[in-house]
Amino acid sequence: MKLRLATPGPTEVPQRLLLAGAREIIHHRSAEMEELIHEINEGLPPLFGTSRPVYTIATSGTGAMEAAVANCFSAEDEVLVVSNGYFGERFQAICRNYGLTVHVVESDWGTSVDPQRVAEAYAQHPQIRGAFVVYSETSTGALNDVEAIGRIFRDTDVVVVVDAISGLLVHPLDMDDWGLDVVLAASHKGFMLPPGLAFIALSDKAWTAVESSSGPAYYWSFERLRHFYPMSSSSPAVSLLLGLHESLKMLGEEGLPDFRKRHATLGRAAERALRELGFCTFIQEPHRRSHVITSALAPEGIDTSQLLKTLSTQYGLTMTGGQAHLKGKLIRVGHVGAADALDLCAVFGALEMSLLTLGHRFTPGSGVGEVVRTFHTFHEEVK
Ligand SMILES: *Cc1c(COP(=O)(O)O)cnc(C)c1O
Repeated sequence: MKLRLATPGPTEVPQRLLLAGAREIIHHRSAEMEELIHEINEGLPPLFGTSRPVYTIATSGTGAMEAAVANCFSAEDEVLVVSNGYFGERFQAICRNYGLTVHVVESDWGTSVDPQRVAEAYAQHPQIRGAFVVYSETSTGALNDVEAIGRIFRDTDVVVVVDAISGLLVHPLDMDDWGLDVVLAASHKGFMLPPGLAFIALSDKAWTAVESSSGPAYYWSFERLRHFYPMSSSSPAVSLLLGLHESLKMLGEEGLPDFRKRHATLGRAAERALRELGFCTFIQEPHRRSHVITSALAPEGIDTSQLLKTLSTQYGLTMTGGQAHLKGKLIRVGHVGAADALDLCAVFGALEMSLLTLGHRFTPGSGVGEVVRTFHTFHEEVK
C-alpha cells in the first residue's frame, strides 16, 4: 500500500530532498561542509525577514521552544503567553517548568487572540519580560495576528517570542519589520524535510535578554551557537543539512509568492470540499485561517477516530484529528510543504471512500470535484 501523509508535520518529503541526504556523511569541519553551511546561512535569513543570522540546531520544534525559554529568561521572570490551542499551552508548560511566572491571554480553541486583549494584559502586567505567541496554531488551524502583537512591544524591553514552526514560509513573516525578537521554525513543515532541524532567529533585543539571563543551558545555549557560528557547536545533523540545502534551492525555484499562493489554494480547496461533504469549517474568520491545515468538525454521526482509522488502514493515508477536547470531533487536513492539487485529490478520494464505508450519505465525487473546480478557478484569483 502506498503511504501518504496529510499531516501538518511531519509532511511528505519530496524524493529530491530524500535523495539529497542519501549519501556518505561529510565531516562537519570539512571544506565541503563549510561551503554548504555558508549557503544555508545565506539562504535562511530572507525567509524570516531578518538581516541577522538564523541558527540551525538538531532538535524537533519543541526543542527550539524550550531553548528560547531557557536562554532569554530567568526563573521568577514574569511573562505573558498568548494561548489559543495546544502549542500555546506547550509554551505555558515550558515556561512554568523553568520557574517563570506565567500570565495567560487565553482565547477559545478555533479563534485567534485579539491583539487588543494582549495590550490590555500588558497594561495590567507592565513588569513582564517576555510575550509568547504561536503564529499558526496547528492544533486548530487559527492564525494569530503576530504583526499587531509585535507592534505592542516594539518600543519596549519585552522580548516577543514567536512559534512560527508551521506558519513560516506559508504565511508572510517580516521579523525585523514587525519587531519580533525570537522566531522559531522547524524542518518538517514548510521546508518539506524530515523532522530533526529547528531554526532560531534572534533580534538585538533578544540578545540583550540572553546576556542577562542566568539559565544554565549548554547544548541549547544561544551564546554557544553564536560563538561557533557560522559552523555548528557540536556534530550537526549532516544528512538533514544536505536536505536543507536542497530544500532552500526548491523554495527558491518556486519562489515564496507562488509557494504561498499554492498553500492558499490548497486551503480554499480543502475548505470547500469539506463543506461539500457535510463538514463544518472550524475557523470562522476566513482571514484568520492558516493555510497549513484545514480543520473541520465532522458531520452528525461520524466519529472522526473511526474515520481516521479507516483512512490509514484501508488507504494508507495518515491524517490527524483534534487534540485534547476536540478528539473525535475534528479532522485536520494537512497540506503544508510539497502538497499539490493532485495530492489533495487523493486525500479527498480516500476521505470520500472512507465516509461511504462508514455509511455517510453524499454524492460521491463531490468533494474531489470541489478540489478540481477550486484549482481550476481560484488559483488564478489568489494574489
Ligand atoms: C509542529 C509544531 C511544533 C513542534 O512540534 P515538534 O513535534 O516538537 O516538532 C510546535 N509548534 C507548532 C505550531 C507546530 O506546528
